[in-house]
Amino acid sequence: MSATTAAGQRGLGLLDTLIEGLAACEEDPSLILVGRGSIPNADGEIELDASLMDGSDLSAGAVCAVRNICPVIRLANLVRVKTPHLMLAGDQAVRFALENGFEKRSLMTEEIVRKYDAWRDHRETEFTHIEHAVPHHGDTVTMLGCESGRVAAASSTSGWPWKRPGRVGDSPIIGAGIYADNEAGCAGATGAGEELWRGVASFRAVEAMRRGLSPQDACDFVINEMLRRQPGAAKYPCVVFAMNTEGEYGAAVTRDPFELWVWKDGEIDMKVFAPKLNP
Ligand code: ASP
Repeated sequence: MSATTAAGQRGLGLLDTLIEGLAACEEDPSLILVGRGSIPNADGEIELDASLMDGSDLSAGAVCAVRNICPVIRLANLVRVKTPHLMLAGDQAVRFALENGFEKRSLMTEEIVRKYDAWRDHRETEFTHIEHAVPHHGDTVTMLGCESGRVAAASSTSGWPWKRPGRVGDSPIIGAGIYADNEAGCAGATGAGEELWRGVASFRAVEAMRRGLSPQDACDFVINEMLRRQPGAAKYPCVVFAMNTEGEYGAAVTRDPFELWVWKDGEIDMKVFAPKLNP
């Protein structure tokens, strides 16, 4: 699932709208690829990734492979505002969280423990392969925002279900899972993270808008290039979506229909983007 959103809901600014929207998704256990109640890794531990970027000054923050901390989107924002770095990883991201008032807590729900036990009892290989892990578009949430010519992007995920411990996908990688620049627009990705990262999907879409393409044409360009050059892109669902500084948006997919949710002026709309034929 992903969304483009206009800012201002509940009077929040652009970045806070994305952060609070994602934090709410992370706390919702019904979304099984983001935050609390996510599908864990092969060891039965939930490892979370998150990122955000402000198109005004290209400031960005990200965390990856973080255990027992939620919401990690707020942690990613603290990396942006409190450190000179772009990303903190694993145990050291947890240490930074504890230094900044977060508390460790279990993110597993009873339902997820049951799902993990069932998966562990029936798995055929030591680690899950992408064929089993990404059968369809999951619950990773990536949000784009636009307000008065200012753009931002943010993402939060637990990555592949049953992933190899330590695996990190595109979502926390600036340029792969998200990108935002007020001089061109913003973009986000969801789906098979290795392919989206290989294709640097979000940065590429923003650069295509910078060259003058519409958001829809920019997304089509990125997906067509991925299909042309990356054998894995046709096999797995990969989505890129983009929005320019006017708030116009588009999306494209390599495989399987994708639902894009849009919030604009208090109205919520959902559009389905289906795969197009290969170039
Ligand atoms: N892109 C995410 C990852 O590979 C997963 C997803 O979007 O469903 O970690």
